[in-house]
Amino acid sequence: MSFLKLLLPAIILACTVHLSSRAQPAQFHYTVSMPQPQSHQLHIQLIATGITQSITDFTMPSWMPGYYQLLNYAGKVSGFAATDNNHQPLSWEKTGHSTWRVIHSAGSAIHLEYDVNASTNFVAQPWLDSTHAYIAPTGVFLYPAGYLQSAVSLTVQPAAQWPNIATGLAKTNTNTFHANNFDILYDSPILIGQLESTPSFTVKGIPHYFTGWRIGNFDKQQLSNDLQKMITSAANIIGEIPYPHYTFLAIGPGRGGIEHLNSTTISFSGEHLNTPEGREQMLSFMAHEYFHHYNVKRIRPVALGPFDYTRENITNMLWVSEGLTVYYEYIVLRRAGLMTTESLLQNLQHNIAAYENTSGRLYQSLTQASAETWHDGPFGRSPDSTISYYQKGPAMGMLLDFAIRNATNNNKSLDDVMRTLYYRFYKEKQRGFTDKEFQQVCEATAGIKLDEFFEYIYTVKTPDYTKYLGYGGIAIDLQTTSSNKKIYSLSFIREVTPLQEAIRKSWQGL
Ligand SMILES: [Zn+2]
Repeated sequence: MSFLKLLLPAIILACTVHLSSRAQPAQFHYTVSMPQPQSHQLHIQLIATGITQSITDFTMPSWMPGYYQLLNYAGKVSGFAATDNNHQPLSWEKTGHSTWRVIHSAGSAIHLEYDVNASTNFVAQPWLDSTHAYIAPTGVFLYPAGYLQSAVSLTVQPAAQWPNIATGLAKTNTNTFHANNFDILYDSPILIGQLESTPSFTVKGIPHYFTGWRIGNFDKQQLSNDLQKMITSAANIIGEIPYPHYTFLAIGPGRGGIEHLNSTTISFSGEHLNTPEGREQMLSFMAHEYFHHYNVKRIRPVALGPFDYTRENITNMLWVSEGLTVYYEYIVLRRAGLMTTESLLQNLQHNIAAYENTSGRLYQSLTQASAETWHDGPFGRSPDSTISYYQKGPAMGMLLDFAIRNATNNNKSLDDVMRTLYYRFYKEKQRGFTDKEFQQVCEATAGIKLDEFFEYIYTVKTPDYTKYLGYGGIAIDLQTTSSNKKIYSLSFIREVTPLQEAIRKSWQGL
């Protein structure tokens, strides 16, 4: 026992030294204001404290996760200025297109100010005019190199007469929000203005919101009811909802949507909900963006998180992240009772036809289409030489699902693959999966090798639709027009085995 007494003073001393020398963690507080909304200029202030070095690079991201194209966000920055706590200018220089290097005293506060031109109306771009503001965070906030894991706080100063702020960020005070790190900040767009909402609702006890700018005339309670059914259907596939709240941010008419961890930004015109076809299209679109919070935000390829914001993050696996998300938008809606069997088959036959009528199918595999999307564009460069993983991806999702169901007597499905990826990689290993690991999970789920199927992914080999769709009791009929266009038709086979019948039913959630 005596050795403990002897050691104790040394331990106390060591702790004292450690505590007294520990620096305060770096803190970053942004303020976004919009003094002249009609000018499209957002004004940004950053107060950074606790930075221990004396040279700090502040960088504007080059892309927004979810939109796999480089965007010239830095080109929209102007009026950059850096000062210290006494309002004295700090020297700075541009060291690259997107990076501002600031020279300062180690440990002392840095004040940055700059403007961002917010004049492109798109889900991946910031917007400001006299009616509303949309903060696309990767295009607005510079990040300090080496501090991406630091906590960030943010105050929004809305233009006059704008009462509403909608975001997935945690609110800490009036108009003030908190993010545990820059990844969360960058994944949390903010919509500001005179906003409208549909009635909020819960799924598995978790609150969900739909808020937007000029959302239009439609049955708002009906939309909330539909979204509740859709989200319940999606959550039933994975088994849990991993966020504390979720918000659909509708930024007005336009095209496109981008997924985030607990929100999505969507272009939206409520009038589209007033016809059966329009309603199904809008719900499909929203189901796609919603399902992404599982598939790509959490169930993700290794290349897609943690992100390198300075350059392209290339992966072969967008056929999984995007293609299977298209597949699941149909499945989720069908199982929620929001899409008919006929529409489900029509959507898939449309995907097959779009792919098969593209001569690019002879030249580019799904994995190549994924890796090359940064240069080809989200839907391919040209149908003559490239393909779209939004078309071939869902078709292959159906083939893979049916292959697994057939091999396991319908005891397992693609849902089991998604669940395994979610629990094993996202939750347990806390990382993305490799190409090889994805195939391994599929084969372990199926209990057989799936070499033939993966040839359809890695090569340009023509898929054997008849065989795979037949597993689920679905026939595929091909007709060729005089102009050589291939027209496909999917239909239920009349006489099927009990296994085909079982697959066809449980696939639809019946
Ligand atoms: Zn998508």
